[in-house]
Amino acid sequence: VRQPIIAGNWKMYKTPSEAVEFVRRLQEASAGVDNVEIVVAPPFPALVPVAGVLAGSFIGLAAQNMFWEAEGAFTGEVSPVMLAEIGCRYVILGHSERRQYFGETDANVNRKAWAALDRGLVPIVCVGESLDEREAGRTEKVVTAQIQGCLAGLPADAVAGLVIAYEPVWAIGTGRTASPADAQEVSARIRALVAELFGREAADRVRIQYGGSVKPENTRALISQPDIDGALVGGASLKVESFAGIIRETG
Ligand code: 13P
Repeated sequence: VRQPIIAGNWKMYKTPSEAVEFVRRLQEASAGVDNVEIVVAPPFPALVPVAGVLAGSFIGLAAQNMFWEAEGAFTGEVSPVMLAEIGCRYVILGHSERRQYFGETDANVNRKAWAALDRGLVPIVCVGESLDEREAGRTEKVVTAQIQGCLAGLPADAVAGLVIAYEPVWAIGTGRTASPADAQEVSARIRALVAELFGREAADRVRIQYGGSVKPENTRALISQPDIDGALVGGASLKVESFAGIIRETG
């Protein structure tokens, strides 16, 4: 059995003080939900103060990106060693916004995944097709190439511990959620591909999230799909009420 995981990707929202206030309230609002793993991914400046509030908490911490080197002359970058030391458990890799605006590629994501695992961080690897690709009937092809590229060469036991986020680009921030059946279809394809590449056990254990306009009202229908093990939430993770609502709908 895979424990559902709900992660809030805050993107470039919330100052450190807003982030601290938010997680304090989230702890209260989600207390008592014990069968769902909860993760927040604040912007870098908020990670340290939020880690302080969350020390010993049931809520996990994620970064939204990192570089693959441990240290060096790489102005503006943050390393997996730094993230591990401040208490991050997860790191989001290959989000479509990073691919679109910052030139992230599957090969980059692969290097980052290796580096994250090496430091004990769990990658949340994001994949998903654009609207043009979906309309051209290329969804499966695109997602397959992304999974092959991002996970290339990883050990099967590492893949088993990963989180893969299926986020169709056309559903992100648009209010247009994939139908539960469509999200399930792609998630099942991803799991079958993981089985092909890394074996049945890795496929049974890897957790697959859906992302793209998730809100409390559509959570249950998505989460109840057999191959969807959680959600990566953007906009609705910025308000305690809606994020806690999604968590409760999952539990
Ligand atoms: P929205 O929930 O705002 O559509 O964003 C999804 C997302 O990109 C999470 O990583």
